[in-house]
Amino acid sequence: MGFFKIIHKGNGEGLKRLFIGGVHGKEGLTTIKPLKEISEEDVPDGCLVMYNCDESEYISTLNPLYYESDAGKAVLYLMNHYKPDMYIELHCYKQENFKSLTDLDRKDKIGVPPLIELEKGVLIGSISPRIRTTKFSKEDICITLEIPCSPSSESLEVYVNFLKVLAGAKSREDLERKARKIYPQQVETSQRYARIIFGDYPPF
Ligand SMILES: [Zn+2]
Repeated sequence: MGFFKIIHKGNGEGLKRLFIGGVHGKEGLTTIKPLKEISEEDVPDGCLVMYNCDESEYISTLNPLYYESDAGKAVLYLMNHYKPDMYIELHCYKQENFKSLTDLDRKDKIGVPPLIELEKGVLIGSISPRIRTTKFSKEDICITLEIPCSPSSESLEVYVNFLKVLAGAKSREDLERKARKIYPQQVETSQRYARIIFGDYPPF
């Protein structure tokens, strides 16, 4: 079993957050590090559940077979069990895939919008439309966060800082306000992409 940690804050009122790292392949070897940087004081209310998966076969989360694999089933189990209002997937990518992940024609090529660079190679995007539209409501916050595998300390710092912004947000509005302050352009673009996938769905 992979790394697992729950942080409860206050009287239980507030957002239910679920952060899952390393959902496929060897990505967990990279995502465990930033997950372990999140501590009690980063969470203002409600709860944060963190899970980092063990190594598994690499199947894209855009592939329907993923959710039939052991790793995919574990992800679905956690999602169904905790019913989070905020769901964050931590991934890592190989440098040679940067171009295809951020390709502006990605929507035409594989049906999902490109990821957006925050800075230092850290990318933000939507989770698989397969679960976004079936497991979550419009108001829920669902984000994929990518970091280069075996990242530089600069990339890791950007990644951890943004994870802390997510962990610290008390609502969708609160998150939007905070994210917009640091990454106004990227938030703008992600809202535009979200409308491409979900029509009038809110961002992320
Ligand atoms: Zn991945």
